[in-house]
Amino acid sequence: MGDDTGSRVGALPDHPFTLGVASGDPTADGVVLWTRLAPEPLLPDGGMPFRTFAVDWQVATDEAFTDVVRTGTVGAHPELAHSVHPEVTGLLPDRAYFYRFRVGPHLSTTGRTRTFPRPGTPVRSLRLATLSCQNLVAGRFAALRHLAGQDHDVVLHVGDYVYEARGPAEPVAGADRRHHPFRDATTLEDYRMRHAQYRLDADLQAAHAAAPFLCVPDDHDVVGRMAGPLGRNGRDDPALFRRRLAAAYRAYYEHLPLRRTALPRGPGMQLYRRFEYGDLARISLLDTRQHRSPQVDGPLFQPNGPEALDPARTMTGPAQEQWLLDGLASSTGRWNLVGQQVYLAALDLGAGEEPVFNTDKWDGYPAARARLTGFLAEARPRNPVFLAGDSHAAMVSDITHGCDPAGPVVATELLGSSVSSAKGNTATFEAALPKNPQVRYYNGRQRGYLSCTVTPEQLRGDLWFVDDVLDAGSPVRLGASWAVQDGVLGAQPA
Ligand code: FE
Ligand code: CA
Repeated sequence: MGDDTGSRVGALPDHPFTLGVASGDPTADGVVLWTRLAPEPLLPDGGMPFRTFAVDWQVATDEAFTDVVRTGTVGAHPELAHSVHPEVTGLLPDRAYFYRFRVGPHLSTTGRTRTFPRPGTPVRSLRLATLSCQNLVAGRFAALRHLAGQDHDVVLHVGDYVYEARGPAEPVAGADRRHHPFRDATTLEDYRMRHAQYRLDADLQAAHAAAPFLCVPDDHDVVGRMAGPLGRNGRDDPALFRRRLAAAYRAYYEHLPLRRTALPRGPGMQLYRRFEYGDLARISLLDTRQHRSPQVDGPLFQPNGPEALDPARTMTGPAQEQWLLDGLASSTGRWNLVGQQVYLAALDLGAGEEPVFNTDKWDGYPAARARLTGFLAEARPRNPVFLAGDSHAAMVSDITHGCDPAGPVVATELLGSSVSSAKGNTATFEAALPKNPQVRYYNGRQRGYLSCTVTPEQLRGDLWFVDDVLDAGSPVRLGASWAVQDGVLGAQPA
């Protein structure tokens, strides 16, 4: 033993569990757990010595941990910001479990998670929520507090988990919501601190502690309008952008309950994946940012010209597209849920006769959407329902084949509103609604989330909205409910 100074080098600081706990990607026999040691989460190193610490985890059937069924020890390494992602196996299907971590004398808070039912076994119901777009500077997370009080089996987070942009010096949500560091995130340390700042939010911690999450990033988790290996519609230097992308994905992995298969390799990350929920649902998660063609040049809203119509343009990349279609074709689930980022609905935003589309959405990739909707029209997979985010609006749409709003309905799409992010162009969307009867419901004026209750008979989507996004204690109210009946294409008011 050295002297006092020497023995304290590399000692574990007090209060390492500042960022809460989380779980994700459940199977019928396990789940991945998450926490990160960060006594000073807003410092570049999280306030941790640059060495590995052994973290113990426990899984129990009860919240008091009198019936501990699995335990283990995992290394929290400085290379991954002292985050841990132990993958628990040997659990029973379709059960609730409680979990916690310990390092030295410090105990984490307790999280609740669930395993999925065994693939193919009869299941009576699934409660699934969808979240997106939680800009810290734009509001408080009353929607997440409300979600944490609901009994969901699983939560989909379809992106814009953090926002890379610096944001305002005086955020509407309050001085304590100013982004730290107060600059656009570009380096690994920037993205780590961004995630850490978001995870200090008590309501976000509560949402994670309440249910397992399935997470996929969208553009702002890296940079707005990211497309494939290019940033901001290709305006970034490609070589530099690869470094930024690698930094953003690494921080995303470090802060979310993702399996080892998602560990980033430089600027790449394996994110599209699927889950079986008994005989009731197959859940496919798409990655519509990493493998897409660049958006067409010019303004965000424009008519689709020859460049947009190029059949070589892709939203998913060819490998993921084939994986999606194969997965829909082979599914034995009664419901085929597809979680993804940007809306699939064809949405003509033109004020006049000429159709105008948002070039960042599937609308800017019409050939890719036609391949998907054509497959849905011909192969008729059972009960396809798309769940998206990104739009900062709640929206329920009939998905029609091709770009024709009057074409045959092939699927339904449900979007919950943003958790907190503001909507900039609500008036444009509202003015365009008469031209878009396939959009059955639209609300861009309120923040919130989507909660789905899925049974063999129907999928009901409840759209929850917060009264005041600037108030963490805001009431959260049910604003609308829409349902899809088993075997019937198209959504109806519930
Ligand atoms: Fe967003
Ligand atoms: Ca987005």
